[in-house]
Amino acid sequence: MTTQRLYYNDSYTTSFEADLIAQLTINDAPAVVLDRTFFYPTSGGQPHDTGWINDVPVVDVIIRDNDGAVLHMLDTALKPQRVTGTINWKRRFDHMQHHTGQHILSQAFVQVAGAETVGFHLSPDSVTIDLDNPDITPAVIDSAEEMANEIVTGNRPVRAWFPDDNELHTLDLRKVPSVDGKFRVVDIQGFDTNACGGTHVASTGEIGLIKVLRAERRGDITRIEFRCGRRALHDYREKHGLLAQMAADMTTGYWDIPSVLDKLREENKTLHRTVRTLRAAALEHEAEQLWQAAQHDANTTIIMQAFDNRDVGDVRQIVQNLIAHPSTIALCGVAGQKAHLVAARSDDLDHDMVPALKRALAVLNVERGGGRPSFAQGGGVPATLTDVQAALRAAADSFDSTSS
Ligand SMILES: [Zn+2]
Repeated sequence: MTTQRLYYNDSYTTSFEADLIAQLTINDAPAVVLDRTFFYPTSGGQPHDTGWINDVPVVDVIIRDNDGAVLHMLDTALKPQRVTGTINWKRRFDHMQHHTGQHILSQAFVQVAGAETVGFHLSPDSVTIDLDNPDITPAVIDSAEEMANEIVTGNRPVRAWFPDDNELHTLDLRKVPSVDGKFRVVDIQGFDTNACGGTHVASTGEIGLIKVLRAERRGDITRIEFRCGRRALHDYREKHGLLAQMAADMTTGYWDIPSVLDKLREENKTLHRTVRTLRAAALEHEAEQLWQAAQHDANTTIIMQAFDNRDVGDVRQIVQNLIAHPSTIALCGVAGQKAHLVAARSDDLDHDMVPALKRALAVLNVERGGGRPSFAQGGGVPATLTDVQAALRAAADSFDSTSS
């Protein structure tokens, strides 16, 4: 004995009585088969209903492959008895709106662009159809959306039934299904006729707004994301709220947001340029002060400077500025989580900075690091300001011993 599927003829009944004809356990979860049900099982791209049988939550509804029985997966087991089923109407109606909206949108894309629907997906987060055409332009989407919403406001009757073979031959189906035997047909009066087993609204006005949100090219197809009814309203509310907040933050009307953003982008570019110039000037000034304050003996000026948590790029720039002076050796370091040491000299000197740097790095127990005879750097380990000062001192000492 299998299940009589009452939702085929009636999408609106949400409470019904039935006899429990089988109790099973599937993957350790209790399930029941009823003699008749209004619960829609996951099929044809439409998710299952939820609800209650007596007071027990129905968490999933599936079709048994071998005999087509409808399995109601339950939260807890039921006692065998006559039961009352109650459908979660909010979820069901959302599915009805989107499923009927999908039929309309699919036919609209056929009429506007000759694009057939080859896929349908409906979940709480997104609803999509896949069109067999990768080149769907924004203008085509606008036209299809206009047409779909005209069908909605026309409040056309939607009919679902099982036609006999004679009647079937007279119907112009959008897509002929590849199933044997009788199948169900859903007709939106004067607009679209197609095979479908899902639940639909009785007239198109119940769908409410149909809004396309996004079109994404995926190989040979275009995936169209859309929303209907309450979901479309919520989407509008959320986006309108966001836009209104942005407009308030920018103290402008929402229509002026793009021009305000353009202006901000331009200002930002100018500020970046200004900051770069000022920063370079500040680093040059800082380097000059370090050079002035250093000991200048007859042959070379050695400048040692340790910084705390300073940008390494800034320190490198200070070093470049220092060694622009003749006969200058700059030994600089940055303390912090990733300490960094730089050893460099002016072009007119011939000291090799690589061994000096290695001596400094050895103080920090680092082996990585190197460079050219005139410019070497390395580091990467945590070190305090005192550690860095000691490391730089070791590098400086190497010049005292080689030059004396
Ligand atoms: Zn359908």
